[in-house]
Amino acid sequence: MILHLDKKIGASTANQLAVQAKAFLLDKNDCYVMVLPCGVKEIPSYLSSYVLDSWVMPTDMQLSSSDYRSSKHKIEIADTYIGGDEKNTLMIAGPCSIESKEQIEQSCQMLVDLGIKVLRAGCFKPRTSPYTFRGLGLDGLKLLAKMRDKYGLKIATEVRDATHVDHVIEYADIVQIGAKSMYDHGLLSACGQSDKVVILKRNYGATLQEFVHCADFMMSLGNEKIILCERGIRTFETKTRFSLDLCGVAWLKQYTNLPVILDPSHAMGYDYGVPNLARACVAMGVDGLLIETHPNPKVALSDASQQLNHQQFREMFESLKPIASAVGRQIV
Ligand code: PEP
Ligand code: MN
Repeated sequence: MILHLDKKIGASTANQLAVQAKAFLLDKNDCYVMVLPCGVKEIPSYLSSYVLDSWVMPTDMQLSSSDYRSSKHKIEIADTYIGGDEKNTLMIAGPCSIESKEQIEQSCQMLVDLGIKVLRAGCFKPRTSPYTFRGLGLDGLKLLAKMRDKYGLKIATEVRDATHVDHVIEYADIVQIGAKSMYDHGLLSACGQSDKVVILKRNYGATLQEFVHCADFMMSLGNEKIILCERGIRTFETKTRFSLDLCGVAWLKQYTNLPVILDPSHAMGYDYGVPNLARACVAMGVDGLLIETHPNPKVALSDASQQLNHQQFREMFESLKPIASAVGRQIV
């Protein structure tokens, strides 16, 4: 159950009541938000005189639920917004990993040419094989920060584990929690207490409810700037890397109040399928896309097979604009 409590009670009473109710308490501008376990279906009598508004919640997917807020959270990124009543589909693009100054400069130049505002590139790579490139680490973060200053791009980059979460929160504009780390409560906790925009990627073995619970976990710590990212789930199919769960995306749009973006690159695993999937995603009216593109994918140090070269990326990007406008949206 979610309750809005009158601010007049003051912080110390609100905190005492939250302890008594075994509830989470968030201090908002116009009220205290108290989140009780979803099993509570009636307002406890000791709270009733302070309650401004209340929502009985069917499951413990609470702060992120459209039953609580029917409008989407509006998130500011790079002088634009996604979510809310905005009809923007934000393009987030760049290589899987930052590999060198030369490579990332080429990526930035293409994004700036196309008017794209957000660069993605990983510095701490969670790899399946221990014998492959694991990223430039802190040096990569510092190089990305230089690119932000030079090109005016916002930086989205992944946090892999607790050893560097503070660095990523410090350097990134958007912190990406990768699919393999979705359940890492240390990371969720650190990101939930930060004020950075977070892209939470769905683990490929997670149900939608498990996925959204991880978003709720961060929201219950105060961070509402959470973007959900579907990036493919594991099915019986082996011809593609994963299966992009567009049914799941329809569900997330219906039942959550968070912006939803899609990552067709990791779902497909091969460049040939990415442009068509990206077009399908835009046609679904999603809030953003995450696409991997590399100046020379053949020599990419991670995810080589799925990254678009710059020519492929430009063609795909132009083709998205009329599709966005056909569904009443625009690519930003
Ligand atoms: C990535 O974005 O490069 C990445 C590792 O993605 P995922 O966490 O979805 O596998
Ligand atoms: Mn990748």
